[in-house]
Amino acid sequence: MAGQGDRELTGDGAGPVFTLATGPSGTTTPATLAALAQPVLHHTDPAFRALYARTVELLRAAFGTGQDPVILQGEAVLGLEAAAASAIAPGEVVLNLVSGVFGRAFGRLARRYAGEVIEIEAGYDSAVPAAAVRDALAARPDIGIVSVVHCETPSGTMNDLDAIAAELAGYDALLLVDAVSSFGGARCDFDGWPADVAVVAPQKCLGGPPGLSLLHVSDDAWRHIEANPHAPRGSVLSVLEWRDAHLPGRSFPFTPSVSEVYALHSCLEQYLAEGPDTVRARHRAAARAARAGAVALGLKLWAADESICSDTVTALAMPDGVDEAKVRAVARAESRVMLAGGQGELAGRVLQIGHMGPAAYPLSPVIALVALGSALRKVGAAADIGGAVEAALAAGSAE
Ligand SMILES: *Cc1c(COP(=O)(O)O)cnc(C)c1O
Repeated sequence: MAGQGDRELTGDGAGPVFTLATGPSGTTTPATLAALAQPVLHHTDPAFRALYARTVELLRAAFGTGQDPVILQGEAVLGLEAAAASAIAPGEVVLNLVSGVFGRAFGRLARRYAGEVIEIEAGYDSAVPAAAVRDALAARPDIGIVSVVHCETPSGTMNDLDAIAAELAGYDALLLVDAVSSFGGARCDFDGWPADVAVVAPQKCLGGPPGLSLLHVSDDAWRHIEANPHAPRGSVLSVLEWRDAHLPGRSFPFTPSVSEVYALHSCLEQYLAEGPDTVRARHRAAARAARAGAVALGLKLWAADESICSDTVTALAMPDGVDEAKVRAVARAESRVMLAGGQGELAGRVLQIGHMGPAAYPLSPVIALVALGSALRKVGAAADIGGAVEAALAAGSAE
């Protein structure tokens, strides 16, 4: 899965052979790499304008909505900041749901724009109960925005958007969803929930490079943003100005990231050709393999309940006295396998195996588990590597 350029990239031939992290998901396909290597056209070139318009069309098909999506030219955190700056009007009351590192971070962002941020906090190994959202909305009908992270990547947990979104029915509040690490690997129903603003990125389950933010914006959200005098205008954060940039006769407010758009176009073609259901099924199979294998290896899933575990990433609690950063460093050095960890409040304690995009096949976690088991032994912990391989293979092929 390593690119041929690893030797050149690292200069010492010591690049990772397998990147099984939480995005960039590493295993960029030959088609995506070929797209990145295309000549960089001028952004007003008709050929680029046509490619950009096709990319927006493919993205709408991938989102499965009736809305034209918006592409912003910056990694997903820029998209989240743009969503907050645009949708949170002065004086707005925001209900932010926190069940992990990214939910916590969004609260900090929201406080910059909101009149008041109310938070519902669940343990970082848990999901936010929909009933708590119901109670909060009933207690504070002035809540204008509800923000939630679909997949809390460092925790490997999912919030139940079907249940949470249903609680907003009958209220005017807009729903803001960070679907960065779920979209493409887990079901996202932006129109059905509905999500008013959803932020997605290419570098997770779509298997692209980081560098763009992909936004779904509902009609209600557009009205709200247009009416917000503080929504960014004349700014890279301006969803209003990037909104119709793909339409004939329009122009780009700034130069788009041409090569990233090529890569996104290719990733979306691959995703749609394979079919979202097929892609999700192999994420599910990879997740089953990762969880069963990790338990057989002797580790505990970080999530309090397996039913909230994500199909896109598996978070594992380290045994007492074992530092995940040390384990990852050993896995990277000895096995040349790149795992994820070290995020926010979970740093040192929780490590993640990413199974996203082109890495979401049942055999990928097997590789991660062998590297992880070898590293655990190196640091003096026990690991049943053979048992983990057997369990992962069995779980990966069962449905
Ligand atoms: C990856 C990710 C982002 C983007 O954040 P980075 O810190 O730049 O990786 C945002 N939200 C979630 C849930 C993510 O997994």
